[in-house]
Amino acid sequence: MNFRTAYSVRPLRLVILLLLTSPFAHADLAQATGPRLYVLDCGTLVNNKPEEYNLKRDEVKDTNMGVTCYLVVHPKGVLLFDTGLNDRIVGRPLYENVVDGYAQIKFNTLSGQLADIGVTPAKIDYLVLSHYHWDHVGNAGDFAGSTWLVYKGDRDSMFSKAARAYPWFGQYAPLENSKTIVLSGDHDVFADGTVVVLATPGHTEGHCSLLVRLKNTGPVVLSGDLYHYSEERELKRMPDEEKTTGTVESRQKVEELLRRTRAQLWIGHSMEFFRSVRKSPAWYD
Ligand SMILES: [Zn+2]
Repeated sequence: MNFRTAYSVRPLRLVILLLLTSPFAHADLAQATGPRLYVLDCGTLVNNKPEEYNLKRDEVKDTNMGVTCYLVVHPKGVLLFDTGLNDRIVGRPLYENVVDGYAQIKFNTLSGQLADIGVTPAKIDYLVLSHYHWDHVGNAGDFAGSTWLVYKGDRDSMFSKAARAYPWFGQYAPLENSKTIVLSGDHDVFADGTVVVLATPGHTEGHCSLLVRLKNTGPVVLSGDLYHYSEERELKRMPDEEKTTGTVESRQKVEELLRRTRAQLWIGHSMEFFRSVRKSPAWYD
């Protein structure tokens, strides 16, 4: 390309760039007439310990785990469900990022994926974390300006004396001063039944799932860590320590809901799901 050609193309590129980065490019976000669900790639856990979930190696098709975050755009507000692995591990070697025997890989930041669809943290009205484990709260502090919907058990654990010593405490610490609504039981976020936080304790004391009723896709339950592998559901297995903490009852509750509403169950850590689900900037409605 000679200089003259390059020069003539540049203004056009500039216009395209301005269009892509202008608020008008994302005007459709505000025009959503019903809930819209975006699935964000929040990383991958390289893991070979299915025994922790009472499964044998040869019973699990893929022992690695996807990490998903979800953005729900509703005409009355925007809700983020889970914040995944910390954005700062993007591009870092695997050996630097091993926690509890789980190695973390991440190719895209959560903040960048949100920016791609015109969403800044200031535009997120509600933050919900399925629970407080490190693979779900990696960027939670970025959303301290949102209203945090949380169950008491999890909030207490997150700000206990022991938790303050966790290496990842700083990743969610700013939530301590967030506008907070402490939930009890299920919570209908927009008071129209389309986005409901489901109390599903067991994996942690305040663990929750999210029911989203979509016009074309139908109802979907985002189950957090109620299940990790789809094989846990098929073979009816769970970690030993969860057998008496509420997971049995929470799974019964969700299975009953799935039968009644014919909702799909989306298991965020399932690699099968992670591989096939449509990811942002595409969406489900
Ligand atoms: Zn998890």
